Amino acid sequence: MKPGYEAVIGLEVHVQLRTRSKMFCACRNVTGAPPNSHTCPVCLGLPGALPALNAEAVRMALSLGLALKATIQCRSAFYRKQYFYPDLPKGFQITQGPVALVEDGHLDIPGDPLVRGAEGPVRIRIERAHLEEDAGKSQHDLEARVSHVDLNRAGVPLLEIVGAPDLRSAREASDYLKALHRLVVGLGICDGNMEEGSFRCDANVSIRLLGTEAFGTRVEVKNLNSFRFMRQALDHEIGRQTGLLEGGGVVQMETRGWDATLGETRGQRTKEAAMDYRYFPEPDLPLLIVDPAEIEAARSALPELPDQRIHRWRESFQLGLEEAQALAQNPAFAAYFEEVARLSGSGRGAAAWMLGEVSRTLNDRGLGIEALPLAPVDLAELVRLVEARTLGFGTAKDQVFPAMLAGEGGAEALVRARGLAQVSDRAGVESLVDKILEANPGPVAQVRSGKESLKGFLVGQILKAGQGRLDARLVNEVLAERLVKG
Ligand code: ADP
Ligand code: MG
Ligand code: ZN
Repeated sequence: MKPGYEAVIGLEVHVQLRTRSKMFCACRNVTGAPPNSHTCPVCLGLPGALPALNAEAVRMALSLGLALKATIQCRSAFYRKQYFYPDLPKGFQITQGPVALVEDGHLDIPGDPLVRGAEGPVRIRIERAHLEEDAGKSQHDLEARVSHVDLNRAGVPLLEIVGAPDLRSAREASDYLKALHRLVVGLGICDGNMEEGSFRCDANVSIRLLGTEAFGTRVEVKNLNSFRFMRQALDHEIGRQTGLLEGGGVVQMETRGWDATLGETRGQRTKEAAMDYRYFPEPDLPLLIVDPAEIEAARSALPELPDQRIHRWRESFQLGLEEAQALAQNPAFAAYFEEVARLSGSGRGAAAWMLGEVSRTLNDRGLGIEALPLAPVDLAELVRLVEARTLGFGTAKDQVFPAMLAGEGGAEALVRARGLAQVSDRAGVESLVDKILEANPGPVAQVRSGKESLKGFLVGQILKAGQGRLDARLVNEVLAERLVKG
């Protein structure tokens, strides 16, 4: 950020809810089905078809609202938002009106010290989260000069989460988006697939002079379908707007799209006047009235939230913030880690394996944790051996873990059968160290007279003599003692 300027960012996030059926009809809510195979008179907008609200979608919205410590509005209404587009067969979208089911919540994120001037969490307010329905999908690239429309997505439940303009850098925006993503996935209300559009984000960005109150003119950036793109797009857009202002120009209110190939945002349409959607209350749906008992039921059904879990892990396992966040991003992965930590008795050891070899294996094979051919109890056995220094980390990683993945046996059995146990009895290591020191009188004398760099050579000789099975920490300890004693 150029000195003297400040970025102001507010995100609008659309979360596709993982309900069994659509928002206002009994059609199944699925992705990847043959085009138009999940439609009915309601979601096709045929005259006379009547919508009926999906109670599961309401429960999901309640759980998000409670997790965001928001106000739940016990009376809210659905409205018609009219516009014409081929993927919107009714000619209007049903969405919530001026009162949203969820209002005035917040999410705490780690602040960006570069713009906040200090480390520490910052609170990002959430203006509202309202229920609405998704539109279908236009497909322009299936056939030349012909467009197709798939209405399987028409009427799928969405929760639109409108954040206040409280974010001050691209990094804060991406941390906020990640926290929200963790939350909706952790609550089990969204599958979180950004590429397929189940979790979509538009970012509003403006620049103002540092120290001023009034907001600058904002630009809406669309098509941010990964955390990395969002960060790149916002950094680019902040630079573009600041450049305009510095050069004495003005920012135009418009919608811009992120072009990942060119690495820049490009103007799509200007937004001089608000589009007139002719909102009016949906006459075919009653008021959405939520009973306090329903709110309490949703509250008691809340699982431990990802950010609470991160906090707990940091306290009890002494994990770093980024480690804990990485472990918590996916609930199945988090549950697996928790099991390994419990069974091995080492949170730190379990975290290192989960974020190291396990993640690498899953990435290489394009698998989720569910498909890892090892149970938590198997991995815990390996972690325990390494933590107890019965097994060296290198041997564990290069030999035992791959053999376990290949189904060749459990950690302990492999270590026994292949003689991989680390020599960690002190007497054994001492006699080996003495042998090597006797065989290398020259280097030993040089180290003693201050040539520290030759110490590595001696360590190498000792480890080699131990055929990679020595406890390196113990070797260093014994060596240090011997070199002092002379
Ligand atoms: P609209 O109805 O046009 O989408 P809203 O008032 O609902 O406009 O605001 C949409 C989003 O824009 C919110 O997330 C809000 O935080 C953000 N926003 C509003 N004003 C600004 C601004 N000046 N700079 C950056 N973001 C802003
Ligand atoms: Mg909006
Ligand atoms: Zn339908």
